[in-house]
Amino acid sequence: MNNITSSLYDDSFLDYLQQRRALAEQLVKDRVAKDLNKGIDDAVSREVENGALSHVKMTREARDRAQGYISNFRDILDGAGIENQELGFYLISGDQPVITDIHLNKQWVNPIHCDIVVNEQMSERYRRRTGKRIASWAHSHGSLSVFLSGTDISTLKNIVPQYYEGFKLDIEVPWGDDNLKYQVHYFPTVVMNNAGDIYAAVQVKYPKVTRQGDSYMPSRHSMRLASGVPIRWVQGERPEPYDDKSIREDLMAKVRVPYRRGYTLLSNLMPSQESGLEERVRNNSKQSLYVQ
Ligand SMILES: [Zn+2]
Repeated sequence: MNNITSSLYDDSFLDYLQQRRALAEQLVKDRVAKDLNKGIDDAVSREVENGALSHVKMTREARDRAQGYISNFRDILDGAGIENQELGFYLISGDQPVITDIHLNKQWVNPIHCDIVVNEQMSERYRRRTGKRIASWAHSHGSLSVFLSGTDISTLKNIVPQYYEGFKLDIEVPWGDDNLKYQVHYFPTVVMNNAGDIYAAVQVKYPKVTRQGDSYMPSRHSMRLASGVPIRWVQGERPEPYDDKSIREDLMAKVRVPYRRGYTLLSNLMPSQESGLEERVRNNSKQSLYVQ
């Protein structure tokens, strides 16, 4: 028998068969990864259409507080004769995927952009101090309409998932007789303005499996933006501080606006009784002018 085999199938033909088989196996394995990723995509689509990713949940109190910041900011800018500027916020939540508050952080704003200080340690510190989470990011366009600009979309894709905590959602992907479980990360956002308009979106970051040998690992991720989604308003607790005086103080102490060739803290542009606006700016510009 051995002789017959070796005479019928010489080594090169056997090699060829082996290669064909390996190739076929490879194709099947790659196909599995493709099917798995399609299953994950479909599960995410279902959530975007009808599930947890189809809307943003926010308390009316959080919206009112943000609107309080926005209108006080407009009044301050009008008073100082400064043109329209953007304003950014952190969106705050408790343990539930609901926006329950906003937080103003140190920032540099201009008419089309706002740079907010954000880093990994910040969420940790905020949680220790308040017991709450920095879930995501939101901003105001001031006197302009509400929509997601190209910059906003790129911020949502590249910066928000990296630095904000977001919310987590388990999805199930039917696989044979089983359901495979994957975890989706999502980041709600709202764009607001002086008129009280509000536009909501959800940035979704979900796993993409790749084949590693014989196993399929969620080692990469895909992004999807659900924009113009409805907001489900929830009754919540009234966050502090809420009054105009504390809001104005907060804005003055944290927001830097364009001034001459750089930026200056909002408080430096406030006219005072002792000295005029120009005088105060001159006195303060050396210490507080920030050039990006
Ligand atoms: Zn924007």
